[in-house]
Amino acid sequence: MDIKGLLESLKNCPCGKEHTVDIKAVEIGHGLKERTAEILKSNDFPTNILVAADRNTLGASEGILEVLEQGGITYKLKLYDNFTEPLIEYVHEIEAECADVDGILSVGTGSLNDVCRMAALTCDKEFAIFATAPSMDGFASGTSPIIENGIKSTLPARQPSILIGDTAILAASPAELKSSGFGDIIGKLTALVDWRVAHVLVGEYYCEQIAELVRKALRQLISMADRVTESDEETAGFIMETLVLTGLAMKLADVSRPASGAEHMISHFWGMRKLAVGKHADYHGKKVGVATMMLVDLYHKMAELPEIEFCEDTIDWDAVYAGYGEKFVDYVKAMNIPSATENVTPVSLATAWPEICRIVKEELPTYEELLDIMKRAGAATHCPEIDVEEPLAWDGLDFHTFMRHKITLSRLIYMTDVDTRKMELRF
Ligand SMILES: [Zn+2]
Ligand SMILES: [Zn+2]
Repeated sequence: MDIKGLLESLKNCPCGKEHTVDIKAVEIGHGLKERTAEILKSNDFPTNILVAADRNTLGASEGILEVLEQGGITYKLKLYDNFTEPLIEYVHEIEAECADVDGILSVGTGSLNDVCRMAALTCDKEFAIFATAPSMDGFASGTSPIIENGIKSTLPARQPSILIGDTAILAASPAELKSSGFGDIIGKLTALVDWRVAHVLVGEYYCEQIAELVRKALRQLISMADRVTESDEETAGFIMETLVLTGLAMKLADVSRPASGAEHMISHFWGMRKLAVGKHADYHGKKVGVATMMLVDLYHKMAELPEIEFCEDTIDWDAVYAGYGEKFVDYVKAMNIPSATENVTPVSLATAWPEICRIVKEELPTYEELLDIMKRAGAATHCPEIDVEEPLAWDGLDFHTFMRHKITLSRLIYMTDVDTRKMELRF
């Protein structure tokens, strides 16, 4: 990936922000496993490192340890059995291994990278990722979603300086993981709507150049939907590039808006409730894809309402707190006092409404179009596929928006007479 060219194209951006990234190299291509040591060293990565992996990811990257050794990199291995949840306890485990190394190489995807990314920051170590599956968009991120006491929060972490993806390995990863990555990217559709709505309504920072970067990647990826589940190196490489790019977009904008909106909050809400009853949630991108389907249906139906009344916030806080559970009441209060809509009035919302409806129509395919795209990519589209039953699905829709201090179109429902129960939503 041409990082320099990307930064060059964003020079003197009309949004007024100077767009920068910390990442030095993103190498995605065939046979790069064999060149891992060379790529690390040519980008000044330390030669005394901790390699973190689990049995699956190390198996997928078979031979990588020998490549490191032969390339003059001294490593010690932290091998997990099967890494699933990004618990803070794991961050501490990685930290404990870090005293005698100068860098961390995470061989894997998802939660393993998130845990290593955070430990790299807290221990001040160089950080690199060797990706094993194009399953989610956090690769280039400078933050980590970490679970502490049952709550998933986004915590400061270190953006990797080097990211390597061998397309032979990425293409051979399970189809479910690739479809999950696809679902995560599809989530940018509603993320962009929410971003523009916040911009129109309260003047929140927005960069059209970065939004367009994400849109372009989305369009291209959608055109490849049919090939996602095949073991096709070109498609797997492109999914990976798009996932990295949307992660970079967040860093470039210095906000999560270009890649994360209400669909991510719904996904996190479902995950949190699953965790509360001791269950593992499904893959991040798989959940995000389903949540996006739900919101595309809702957003179009809201935008098509012939009449809509606007009012002050009408929120049943007791129901919200009950939806999150006793343990999270203080957290929800912290996110909502003051309210994300404190600068929105019924009048300002009514004035902006025609523009908001235009944004929905501009950014979103129809529900039927998206359903077809998702099916072709082998991505989950309905709640039963991610083991989310109807009551939890509704709770996700009703309460997700209180998880962050953030305006989303779904948040504005509480300032209207829209009744989601009468909208025949498909999920
Ligand atoms: Zn800009
Ligand atoms: Zn995501």
